[in-house]
Amino acid sequence: MKQNTFIVANWKMNLNFNSANDLIKSFKDKINKRKTNIITIICPQFLLIPQISDYFENENLNFFLGSQDIHHETSGAFTGDSSVELVKEFGCKYSIIGHSERRKNHFEDDSIIKKKIILAIKYSLIPILCVGESFEDRKNKNYLDVIYSQLKNSIPSDLKSIIVAYEPIWSIGTGLTPNNNQIEEVAAHINNFFIHNNIQNFNILYGGSLNSENYNEIFKLENINGGLIGGASVKKEQFIKILSNFYLD
Ligand code: PEP
Repeated sequence: MKQNTFIVANWKMNLNFNSANDLIKSFKDKINKRKTNIITIICPQFLLIPQISDYFENENLNFFLGSQDIHHETSGAFTGDSSVELVKEFGCKYSIIGHSERRKNHFEDDSIIKKKIILAIKYSLIPILCVGESFEDRKNKNYLDVIYSQLKNSIPSDLKSIIVAYEPIWSIGTGLTPNNNQIEEVAAHINNFFIHNNIQNFNILYGGSLNSENYNEIFKLENINGGLIGGASVKKEQFIKILSNFYLD
């Protein structure tokens, strides 16, 4: 039986102070406190974190704040970046690390991502590591190798706890999703990586064009413990529909 289901909202660079408040207020009071195995994590852009952090003070709700990234150094001459210390100070418990948009737009490779994971753990943030293949990798049938290498090169050997989101790049924001067998194949592959490396505390999520119509079947897959949701997490009706199934009264 699955222990936990994670619903992670990646708001990306969307919403402002008013719309973020409005979105959270639309479901926050309906959270069912008895559903202790459902964990919802909201990852807003950095400037929104202090603005909405008060909503996350009651830990009994399993409703947590996460960041979309952290820098791999604690401080220094890194103009435009945000530090793990501030992310932590404002109440984040999780951090997305290695999202494909960071890998592509900010040239983050596995060695930088590994440093971020190490730093996150040092500051007691649970990393949500994103891995996934390009359309080319899938076409060339080397996606399992690509994902294995992302895991091997970015996960430190003494890791205690991690969430990995399988996010095929070709699925993010495109409306395309792998079929259930394809998702399960990769999730089982990631699962084997952890078993083989003797890492026991891990959860595997799926991410990429999840919406209120397709999440339910995907969340039922054997090795999937929830989802990382981008576009649908900033659409009030869609997100509430997803949460309602598990979590709202
Ligand atoms: C994401 O960017 O993490 C993501 C899953 O986006 P979307 O749901 O919009 O495909």
